[in-house]
Amino acid sequence: MPVPKKRKSPARRDRRRAHHDKVAMPPMTYCSNPECGAPMLPHHVCPECGQYRGEAVIEVVSEEELEARKKERREKAKAAKAGRAAPPAAEKAEEKDEDEDEDEDEDEKPGKKKGK
Ligand SMILES: [Zn+2]
Repeated sequence: MPVPKKRKSPARRDRRRAHHDKVAMPPMTYCSNPECGAPMLPHHVCPECGQYRGEAVIEVVSEEELEARKKERREKAKAAKAGRAAPPAAEKAEEKDEDEDEDEDEDEKPGKKKGK
């Protein structure tokens, strides 16, 4: 069995291990969209414009707009849960009417299943 002739100094050992927990930089490319050109990972959808190979794949939404949409959804869900309560505004009344229709359909379906 081969045995090292001499003990390696701590400096030499540490120099050898210097690369061991190095984190490699991911390979980066730039968005092919001429209007964007943001740095991005290859073979990924661009996080800035939502395009992949010149085709819009996902919709990019700002944080503020996301929050606004979430609030809207929550309010709609609450309104649906509250049931067929009187709508506060005329514009919202129309939306809620649509929701009510959907709810009624859902209510009917399980009833039919039970009937069968
Ligand atoms: Zn882009």
